[in-house]
Amino acid sequence: MGIKTKDEYIESLRSLNPTAYMFGEKLTNIVDNPRLRAGIEATGATYEMAELDPDLMITTSPLINEPVSRFTLPPGNTEDLVARVKVNRKIANHVGTCHQRCTGLDCLSTLAIVTYDIDKKYGTEYYPRFMEFLKYMQKNDLTANAGVTDVKGDRSLLPYQQVDKDMFIHVVEKRADGIVVRGAKAHQTGSLSSHEIIVLPSRAMAKEDKDYALAFAVPADTKGLIHVVGRSSLDMRELDGCDIGNAYYSKYCPTLIFDDVFVPWDRVFLCGETEFALDMVVKFSSFHRQSHGGCKAGKIDCMVGCALTLMDYNGTSKVSHLKQKVIDMIHRAETLYGCCLASSYEGQKQPSGAYFIDTVLANASKIHEGKEMAEATRLMIDCSGGFVADLPSDRDFSNPEIGDLLKKYLKGVDNIPVEKRVKMYRLAEKLALESADTISDIHGGGSPEAHRVTIFRETNIDDKKKAARRLAGIAD
Ligand SMILES: Cc1cc2nc3c(=O)[nH]c(=O)nc-3n(C[C@H](O)[C@H](O)[C@H](O)COP(=O)(O)OP(=O)(O)OC[C@H]3O[C@@H](n4cnc5c(N)ncnc54)[C@H](O)[C@@H]3O)c2cc1C
Repeated sequence: MGIKTKDEYIESLRSLNPTAYMFGEKLTNIVDNPRLRAGIEATGATYEMAELDPDLMITTSPLINEPVSRFTLPPGNTEDLVARVKVNRKIANHVGTCHQRCTGLDCLSTLAIVTYDIDKKYGTEYYPRFMEFLKYMQKNDLTANAGVTDVKGDRSLLPYQQVDKDMFIHVVEKRADGIVVRGAKAHQTGSLSSHEIIVLPSRAMAKEDKDYALAFAVPADTKGLIHVVGRSSLDMRELDGCDIGNAYYSKYCPTLIFDDVFVPWDRVFLCGETEFALDMVVKFSSFHRQSHGGCKAGKIDCMVGCALTLMDYNGTSKVSHLKQKVIDMIHRAETLYGCCLASSYEGQKQPSGAYFIDTVLANASKIHEGKEMAEATRLMIDCSGGFVADLPSDRDFSNPEIGDLLKKYLKGVDNIPVEKRVKMYRLAEKLALESADTISDIHGGGSPEAHRVTIFRETNIDDKKKAARRLAGIAD
């Protein structure tokens, strides 16, 4: 009970027995699989950081009146909203990839607001149920994954209109003790590094979508839940044990199939109140887009460090156009960070007492991220050189026939051992080209168009028109 150490977190995953597949084979040991372990280590860093920097990472929960990780605390004031951004930047800078624990907090933060609003309207009991679940998460310092993105079938059709009715997760049976659900969620970041899967709706719903308006939580190893780990561009490297790039951490994203999964009522937080599906989507995606901004600022910090170090190793550290490019990377990190901090400072208390960020600022940050992370990556590659693309393998460097020749020809400045230069190029490759990480800059938290739509919907358009009319001397 209480705050877990990193070792305790990793041991706690050993007690789970999820059904999981990778490369066509059923996995029997998740924690010691090198590919998955690199992801688990990244989430483990959130526990490690609680030991290294408790002032930032640990706070007191008013719910259980005990110290808790910030990853289990829905924000209760502006300070908590600000801490979300700082925590994500610090850990991303530590792991150089996605730490995979923010999505669970974003779900908890959403449910702490919306379940209360549903109960107010319908006299349901979602909020007290959710509070009990939250106590369990906090007391055991658990990690949750966000099961939001349905596989969606034909994107032009609503859930109830799909030819195959399982394209969005839905209720197939209601029982006295709970519900049975079927469907699949795609791109489930770190689902096997998580103790719990929290499912929220992925889109606005019509009245006819009653069976699809669902939020609930299940343990990651619950019966009927199947994790199928997705391929990503560098996924064989950890399995090969060679040319890994990031020496400690990585990211993976399974597809999660819910093959008639039972959920007891005390873990159901929305069931049929269709108009609240949109509210859950807006709250979750805004929180998550804010998490991204803090996190990706921290990742750009790593890319800046990588570019500057390679400039040192290459003898180009005084070249002025490269310094300009590094400045262009730094200002992109600070723009993301600044937008997300601003969205915290402009946050508001909600009827439940939990706090919500400014949606427009959080979405503005995510629009920048979609383009500017790609630009920061391009700049890092520009500063670093072509070996980001095609460096010979470590096995070639240790080959007795060609190793010494490679070491001779791949040396940069004289006083830097070639091994250091090779390692830094590998890191640049990982930072730039790990698809499980980089594609989330664009699609994670929703596609770029979703950010635009949210910005327009949440902006006070009338106030802006009114100000223009007044300046033009047009009476209302
Ligand atoms: C690396 C990575 C990690 C992720 N992690 C998670 C996670 O942990 N949990 C989770 O739940 N999700 C996660 N996601 C999912 C992410 O939120 C989705 O990828 C995103 O919402 C886009 O959905 P999609 O992939 O189904 O693409 P699509 O929805 O098919 O979108 C493709 C394009 O079509 C457009 N489009 C689609 N439908 C319409 C329409 N009806 N009208 C107009 N335009 C449309 C979109 O705007 C987009 O430009 C992750 C994604 C990635 C890539």
